[in-house]
Amino acid sequence: MSQFSDVDTVIIGAGAAGIGAARTLQAEGRSFALIEASHRIGGRGYTEEILPGVPFDLGCHWFHSASINPLVPFAKEYGISYTNEGYERNSFRDGKWSDNSDRDEWSQFYVAQDKALEAALDSDEDVSVYDVTEREHKYTSFYDYIMSLHTSFDPDQVSVRDLMNYNDTDENWPIREGYGTLLTRMGADLPVSLNSAVTEINWSGTPIVVKTVKGDIRAKKIIITVSTGILAAGDIKFVPELPDWKLEAIHKLPLGNHNRIALAFDRDVFDPDAVQGAMIDTPGTEPLSIRFKPFDYPYAVGVTGGRFGDWLESAGQAAAVDFMSEKMKAAFGSDITRHVCAHIVTAWRGDPWVKGAYSTALPGAAGQRSQLRQTLDERVLFAGEATSPDFYSTAHGAYLSGLAAAEEAR
Ligand SMILES: Cc1cc2nc3c(=O)[nH]c(=O)nc-3n(C[C@H](O)[C@H](O)[C@H](O)COP(=O)(O)OP(=O)(O)OC[C@H]3O[C@@H](n4cnc5c(N)ncnc54)[C@H](O)[C@@H]3O)c2cc1C
Repeated sequence: MSQFSDVDTVIIGAGAAGIGAARTLQAEGRSFALIEASHRIGGRGYTEEILPGVPFDLGCHWFHSASINPLVPFAKEYGISYTNEGYERNSFRDGKWSDNSDRDEWSQFYVAQDKALEAALDSDEDVSVYDVTEREHKYTSFYDYIMSLHTSFDPDQVSVRDLMNYNDTDENWPIREGYGTLLTRMGADLPVSLNSAVTEINWSGTPIVVKTVKGDIRAKKIIITVSTGILAAGDIKFVPELPDWKLEAIHKLPLGNHNRIALAFDRDVFDPDAVQGAMIDTPGTEPLSIRFKPFDYPYAVGVTGGRFGDWLESAGQAAAVDFMSEKMKAAFGSDITRHVCAHIVTAWRGDPWVKGAYSTALPGAAGQRSQLRQTLDERVLFAGEATSPDFYSTAHGAYLSGLAAAEEAR
């Protein structure tokens, strides 16, 4: 016996895309159901407390391309604060902090890598970042690490053309109360069925039948917002099967990994005059970028990505805490971690409702985002970050894709 009534539109997934789609349909007084597999809304927007009263984002945390980000006005509406101030960063490498000449060398190298990517657009072939960037420079490993944070993949797995399609204004504004908090606020008045995983979509006839663990729902149209990780794993059965070109798009826009390791301190261990962020490179291991005391909160957060992110996630939480502790000790001395009192280590690959961090087009697959968002049979619609042409991998890109799908579902 199903607990659901028939509706015009079923939205599958209550992350940023699903919330955007549902708010649009709700504002128009349309009949819809918002179905979410997990116990909460927000998807990859998820804020917890690392210490009482200290919010910490496990997933999205910055308004990217902030001056043109459509979610910024919602923060204003809900009284959620953010900052547009950058922070001072330095690098620790070969046992010492960088000086001005190191910093100049790094920025010249970075600019040259960017130019190489731009030049690659002249080629007919959609090559990988690895193929066209400098591989032998002393800063290549730094560069590859940063690329793994931007794309959640290693450079050999990233299409240059897709990377260059991203609309980056270079404004990344962190949100004090958390991006997850904002998305939860935006979805607070939506009727949503939680803990209701969709297991099958039968689009062979009319209406479409959406099977969930709590029963079936019948609808004229559906908007699928789940990640390409979920679609590629075959966690939702399609009857009939999705066409080959759609499956190709799903598999060529996979999710890489990106995890956040946060250590909270029971006292202020940071020198007030010290840098607010550091990239720490010690021999024999991957570099780690760490932000200290965001919004003056007593924690530090390090970020991992790509294959190393996957490896460290599979090694477990203790290994991740250890990895970050060793980096901090190398740069600041062994006392620095004595006052760690709590930690959060994310594990996005292992999240059963996402299965990774965010999408990247594999080399040669830059055109696949338009295939992924293409509607089937005028009634099976696709949204979510991976469908965004220019703001993919972001919460606002997901949100905008939800708005577009809701409009099309009219
Ligand atoms: C560590 C990390 C850091 C990030 N940092 C940023 C950042 O700073 N800024 C930024 O803009 N973006 C960032 N992102 C990316 C951003 O979080 C995502 O692009 C965005 O939140 C994706 O939204 P979505 O709606 O497309 O997908 P999701 O958030 O994945 O939503 C899909 C929903 O579908 C649900 N679902 C899955 N399977 C089923 C099923 N079978 N039935 C029903 N429901 C199902 C899921 O539970 C989920 O709630 C980050 C992501 C990660 C992981």
